Amino acid sequence: MARPRLLLLLPTTTYRAAAFVEAARRLDLDLTVASDHVSVFAAAQPTGLMALDFAHPERAAGEVRGFAATHPVDAVFGVDDDTAVVAAVIAEALGLRHNPVPATLAARDKHRQRVLLTQAGLPVPAFALHAVTADAAQVAREARYPCVLKPLRLAASRGVIRANDPAEFVTAFQRIVRILEEPEAAACGEPARQILVEEFVPGGEVALEGLLAEGRLRLLALFDKPDPLDGPFFEETIYVTPSRLPDASQRAIAECAERAALALGLTSGPIHAELRINERGPWVIEVAARPIGGRCGAVLRFGEGEGASSLEELLLRHSLGLPIASFERERAASGVMMIPSPRAGVLTEVRGVDEARAVPGVDDVVITAHRGQRLVPLPEGSRYPGFIFARGDTPEAVTRALRAAHASLEFVVA
Ligand code: ADP
Repeated sequence: MARPRLLLLLPTTTYRAAAFVEAARRLDLDLTVASDHVSVFAAAQPTGLMALDFAHPERAAGEVRGFAATHPVDAVFGVDDDTAVVAAVIAEALGLRHNPVPATLAARDKHRQRVLLTQAGLPVPAFALHAVTADAAQVAREARYPCVLKPLRLAASRGVIRANDPAEFVTAFQRIVRILEEPEAAACGEPARQILVEEFVPGGEVALEGLLAEGRLRLLALFDKPDPLDGPFFEETIYVTPSRLPDASQRAIAECAERAALALGLTSGPIHAELRINERGPWVIEVAARPIGGRCGAVLRFGEGEGASSLEELLLRHSLGLPIASFERERAASGVMMIPSPRAGVLTEVRGVDEARAVPGVDDVVITAHRGQRLVPLPEGSRYPGFIFARGDTPEAVTRALRAAHASLEFVVA
């Protein structure tokens, strides 16, 4: 039998590429990587690389249909919110099993998602949509506090700001308008001309990694976020699993995430959800039809020893209908720290990387920012300068190792 062919959709600015390409190699797939950036290598390697116009999924699907006539494609996988939509359009054109296109669109749009989840009776914060041209002072007078203002289509907490009173509201609103005017944000069109305002949901936050199949959400991992996320900006730092929440809370969270994913119409593939939990139970902050972002996938391993599999391998196996040996995460506790941008400026040097790597329990310290790169903290920025990974016997030990490693790093910024 021919090796299965996977079409992997990779945006040009992703940290996820290496992990997915490695997973495809381990599975011995015929891999075609498509990106929206015309690769200089595409001509030399016509079946391995492909340029696709991700901004026009129908056009991209037409091209893939032509390609698939001579190189049959068995699965299409998009790694982020945008390519998940493109993958669904292409898969539909090829007659492959995939999420319905409208479901992926709803998962990507924070407002559409709120509307659908509210209709389905899920616990979501009250919300209202405003045009960027609205009179911010007027809207601020009518808002309830505390609230959270956010763009519809950005990621990694970019442009997400808490306001406690009308003055903070107006400042936040104007700040988001300026972020949405930046070219790559403005490129998404109408969604960049609106701002979502939501009731602030108090409580601890978790992230859930899951896999949808046959109408059920299989829980792959539940992460606690030990650093409080109370605003005004919502910087992700530590994710650690297994969760220390009581079993009953964990079950309620998983059930809530499953109902939310199904309410959006999603049917198949990875889910990454953020939920808050307080005395009234779990609340859906966001459900995405993609795996965990950035380099963070490396925090998860399934099975033990030789046969252990990466998250990416598990997901690619699922998309191709290949057998999956274990959905059970390894026994060790595991965690990642998304390193916050220390301050705005040009990165000249990162000190202490060897010391950070030497901290017991630390698996790896990956500095993704390069010398000369401009670091932009939240709420304007969205890229972390690096990631720290640790494993240990308990989530507490993992958290301590991550903090100790972070404390030995010094980002020199000019
Ligand atoms: P993004 O997709 O950019 O990460 P989210 O909508 O998930 O945007 O918001 C990012 C973070 O902001 C969340 O993980 C959460 O900590 C915080 N947040 C967002 N909305 C709310 C809300 N209504 N109440 C409390 N916190 C929120």
